[in-house]
Amino acid sequence: MSNNTTLLNNVAIVLVGPKFPENIGATARVAYNMGISNLIVVADSPPEYSPMAKMATHKATHLLNEMKLYDNLAEAIADYSIIIGTSARSGKQRCTERSPRNIIERILPDLATNKAAILFGPEDRGLTNDELKYCQYTSAIPTADFSSLNLAQAVAIHCHELYYSMINSTEQTVHQPKIATSFELEGMYQHMEEALTEVDFLQKTNNSCWMTSIRNFFSRIRLTSKDSQVIRGICKQFLSHQDRKK
Ligand code: SAH
Repeated sequence: MSNNTTLLNNVAIVLVGPKFPENIGATARVAYNMGISNLIVVADSPPEYSPMAKMATHKATHLLNEMKLYDNLAEAIADYSIIIGTSARSGKQRCTERSPRNIIERILPDLATNKAAILFGPEDRGLTNDELKYCQYTSAIPTADFSSLNLAQAVAIHCHELYYSMINSTEQTVHQPKIATSFELEGMYQHMEEALTEVDFLQKTNNSCWMTSIRNFFSRIRLTSKDSQVIRGICKQFLSHQDRKK
C-alpha cells in the first residue's frame, strides 16, 4: 500500500448488532477490497461462521478470524477518537449530518495520529440515538427517495470513499494533536453530568436533551486528550467542593 493508504490501518468498521451473518461476510470482503482490515462486531453472541465465510470469500476470511467481538459498544470504541455514525434517517437530536465524502475530507488530516471508527446499525432499526451519542459525525449517503441501503452496501460506499480519497490525497501527513478517545470523553461527560445535576441544571426530565446538546457542542470543538482532562478535573473539583459543603 502507498504511504497514504497505510492510514487505513487506523480505521475500523464497527457493525452494531448485525442480524445477518451474510452481511458481516460481505462487509469483510469489501473492507478488504478497500484496504481496511479492522472489523469489530458488537453482538450478544458470536455470529454463525459459515454464512459469514461464504460471503467473505477465502481472500477475506482472515478479517473474520481476526474480527473483534464485544457485547458493549462503549467498550468496543473506547480506544477510538474519531467516531462516525452512519444513518439512513435524519434526526433532530443528531450531530451534524454530512455525506461520507465530506466527513472523510475533514478527518483525513487527523488519521495519522488518531484512530477512527465508523459505526453501522442493525438491518432492521439502524443505530439508536443512544448509540449515536458517541459519534462526533453522522454520515448519510445521499440517495433518491428510498434512503435505506443494504448494510454491507452502505459499508461498501464508505470504504470506497475512504480508499479513493486516500489514493488521491496529496496531503503530507502532518502531526496533528491527539484527540480525546471515546473512553476519555465518556468519563468527562459522566463527571459533567454529575456536576450539572448537583447544581440542578440537569433534572430527570431534561437530562438527556441537555446532554445531547452538550455532546454536540463538544463534538464540534474536537477536544484533545488534555482538554478533556482539564474539563474533567474542573468537574471533579466542583463535586468534591460541594461534598465538603454538605
Ligand atoms: N431501517 C433502518 C435502516 C437500517 S440499514 C433505518 O431506517 O435506519 C442498516 C445500516 O446501514 C444503517 O444503520 C446504516 O448504518 C447503514 N445505512 C443504510 N442506508 C444508509 C444511508 N443512506 N446512509 C448511511 N448509512 C446507511
